[in-house]
Amino acid sequence: MIRKVLVANRGEIAVRIVRSCREMDILTVAVYSDADRKALHVLYADEAFHIGPSPSVDSYLNIDNIMRAARLSGADAIHPGYGFLSENPEFPSRCQKEGIIFIGPPPTAISTMGDKITARRTMINAGVPVVPGAEGKITSEAEAFEVINQIGLPVMIKASAGGGGKGMRLVSKEGEIKSALRSASSEARTAFGDDSVFIEKYIESPHHIEFQILADSHGNVIQLFERECSIQRRHQKIIEETPSPFLSSERRIQMGEAAVAAARAVDYQGAGTVEFIVDKDQNYYFLEMNTRLQVEHPITERVVGVDLVKEQINIANGNALQLKQEDLKQHGHAIECRVYAEDPANNFMPAPGLVTHIDIPYGVGVRVDGSIYEGFEIPLYYDPLIAKLIVWGKDRQDALERSRRALREFKIAGVKNNLLFLERILLSEGFAGGDYTTHYIEENRDFLMQEDRCEDHCEDIVIITAFMEYLQKVKKASPKEMTAIKNNWKDYSRVRSVLKL
Ligand code: ADP
Ligand code: ADP
Ligand code: MG
Repeated sequence: MIRKVLVANRGEIAVRIVRSCREMDILTVAVYSDADRKALHVLYADEAFHIGPSPSVDSYLNIDNIMRAARLSGADAIHPGYGFLSENPEFPSRCQKEGIIFIGPPPTAISTMGDKITARRTMINAGVPVVPGAEGKITSEAEAFEVINQIGLPVMIKASAGGGGKGMRLVSKEGEIKSALRSASSEARTAFGDDSVFIEKYIESPHHIEFQILADSHGNVIQLFERECSIQRRHQKIIEETPSPFLSSERRIQMGEAAVAAARAVDYQGAGTVEFIVDKDQNYYFLEMNTRLQVEHPITERVVGVDLVKEQINIANGNALQLKQEDLKQHGHAIECRVYAEDPANNFMPAPGLVTHIDIPYGVGVRVDGSIYEGFEIPLYYDPLIAKLIVWGKDRQDALERSRRALREFKIAGVKNNLLFLERILLSEGFAGGDYTTHYIEENRDFLMQEDRCEDHCEDIVIITAFMEYLQKVKKASPKEMTAIKNNWKDYSRVRSVLKL
């Protein structure tokens, strides 16, 4: 029985895992880097261990340091969260060796699914449809041309080790093949230490629809329906919803069965997600399986009525799933908006910095999983995801109206963020009508990039509150520091205009 869990992660997901552990009466251990000494996950856990300098390679990706923290704390299990070491098969192998339970799938399932080429082959054998494309790794330019001749343009050149939207290139013209091949493999080498690439057909106007899986060590595998994740920028999701407004009930059943088959093919255990790309005629193709908890898991929790972290822990404890496929239903509708410290106007560049003010929305149907507070300095070293707004409604319209209301109440000052951008997506006609593909953001750039809030001056209140804090800081600062603060403070010109200075 798991009594104490070390959470090998940071940010909102670390806080979220600690919360479920606490409800299960399980002690928690946080780990942190230099930049995260004052991070929320450190404050929430029962204990915290420093694991190294700020860069992730020296801390959150450092298996030795994390194992040391586990031994020192007496943790009997490790939860990897998402990102970082969660899909590195070495990590569960190391846990096995040291007699610590890894809350996740076996290393073989991770390595099979982690390599997209191997995963494709495994899925073909299991009878799960994959995107038409090359059998294996592309080893020369000539081979690339040959494959592309067969399947026809446009194609995607993709890194076998890819993740987080990295190492992926769209090729629409023959002249682009060589440079795309080179840039995809060099990006893959830098990001994943593996430059293998493969080629698959580019599906036009597609939907990204994924299925949540749970599998125990007794051979039970269930699927907890889909998440529609087609609102993306740079191949990364920013808004997700369930049920998908696009999928027919018939297709939902078929895809759910395919997802279960995919999980069975690798003897999966734990929580996982099978991602599909779906064309306009609802033909679906396996994209990849993420062998971990997904960022957008809370919308499934809300609509299906489960706590996926608790399920993961129960499975890791060797218990059989209590949930039965035939009892599962989708109740109402849930939408998640990912709040990032980034600048939508500047190609979504990360915008780390000091959070001077934050208003978190409350009220019926609202859940916020976050990792920031007033006075927290968002480090530049990690993913700029700072909060997730998860909203439930009795139907899609209800969830949409409630999401807009909650986004309106959400205020963050001090750092650039995408709150306004998210609000504009929810206000846009295409999204409201449930009619969108993965190209939605690109295609609606002009509307989405408008800066006005189309409403009152609540933004100004945030700015003024932040300005008061700024003044306090200035009072204590030396003239030299004062100049530095002024120069660094991005909202200074806004304050001047709001206060008519
Ligand atoms: P999700 O569907 O859960 O959003 P993503 O592919 O966007 O999945 O990845 C979730 C998180 O993990 C993001 O923070 C992303 O940057 C990170 N991530 C995913 N794959 C990798 C990888 N191979 N290496 C490093 N980080 C990754
Ligand atoms: P990652 O591991 O980086 O998450 P995925 O294979 O899951 O990579 O793809 C991420 C996104 O890229 C998809 O959600 C989709 O928007 C786009 N994409 C990937 N493959 C294709 C394809 N063959 N055709 C069209 N879009 C694709
Ligand atoms: Mg993916």
